[in-house]
Amino acid sequence: MTEHRIALIPGDGIGAEVLPPATAVLDRVGRRHGIRFRYDEFDWSCERYLREGAMMPADGLDRIRHHDAILLGAVGWPGVPDHVSLWGLLIPIRRQFDQYVNLRPIAVLPGVPSPVRAAEPGLEFVVVRENVEGEYSEVGGRFRRGFPDELAVQEAVFTRPGVTRILDYAFSLAATRRGVLTSATKSNGIVHTMPFWDELVEEAGERHPEVSWHQEHIDALVAKIVLDPARFDVIVGSNLFGDILSDLAAAVAGSIGVAPAANLNPEREFPSMFEPVHGSAPDIAGRGVANPLGAIWSAAMMVDHLGHPEASAEVRSAMADVLGNTAVRTPDLGGTATTESFTRELLDRL
Ligand code: ATP
Ligand code: MG
Repeated sequence: MTEHRIALIPGDGIGAEVLPPATAVLDRVGRRHGIRFRYDEFDWSCERYLREGAMMPADGLDRIRHHDAILLGAVGWPGVPDHVSLWGLLIPIRRQFDQYVNLRPIAVLPGVPSPVRAAEPGLEFVVVRENVEGEYSEVGGRFRRGFPDELAVQEAVFTRPGVTRILDYAFSLAATRRGVLTSATKSNGIVHTMPFWDELVEEAGERHPEVSWHQEHIDALVAKIVLDPARFDVIVGSNLFGDILSDLAAAVAGSIGVAPAANLNPEREFPSMFEPVHGSAPDIAGRGVANPLGAIWSAAMMVDHLGHPEASAEVRSAMADVLGNTAVRTPDLGGTATTESFTRELLDRL
């Protein structure tokens, strides 16, 4: 029996509704594979912020540092500015635990129609986003406020080690898949950081001769993903480009409710964090109709990261089984199932 300690952060709104289905799936698949998950739950959320003035306690990160992984629902709530939930919880976790890979698999699942004509069932690719440096930096400032020549300066910070490690992760991943990689760039307009990124891609390509790679300017790339998504397999991008690409890709897949994400510390020095792409969805929170698939798929990625690829694959195929062979779906996918009845069907098929 292998045991894993998981830090659970349900968060706000439907975050708290989609984590119980995910742990139910983990427990079921764990039992079949001799894996036991032990959960510690933390109430870190906007609700806590409104009550106590902070998303998490001052020693919050120390409390989860020794867990094997973190499973998060969603944080964010109307009335609480986004920077509070981001800088009060998500960004400290990503940065302190050096989760420099943001991994977002995209799949058009059976019975989940995509708004993109060229995206057929079975389409599958993955976006690898640099998660801790790049454009989202605090370097810069606002100057001459109130003057007619007022200005704002925002510096992007790309480091050789930071770019090299995300590229090596992406190339290695590509080598285990179809052996093709696309790098998002904009070196025709951004004259310092992006040419540097391109040079490091070239170097990474030399270290990974088994991968055939090419680069695309971000503007052309987003158009091609919509027009001909099947040509892509692994797409790697900086923090900003990866952010944009992963939301675009989730939309291509048909529903934000099914999209998963992992924030990985590949060296396993710190816990990695797994979370559905969707937010707390205040408009449907409390009604018991949230689609739990994004959280369940995220949990499956966690199982894979913890070293149990067969158990992870079983969860994925149970998902495809329910969607492909039944009409049971939550309202966001055009069905009438509740979170609970959908989860029950999925558990039966596991
Ligand atoms: P954030 O700002 O936290 O990224 P958001 O406000 O941009 O989040 P969501 O909270 O993800 O977006 O909600 C966007 C829309 O998608 C809402 O209408 C919401 O109801 C719907 N939605 C999101 N997740 C789900 C889900 N799991 N099941 C059903 N509908 C969902
Ligand atoms: Mg929001």
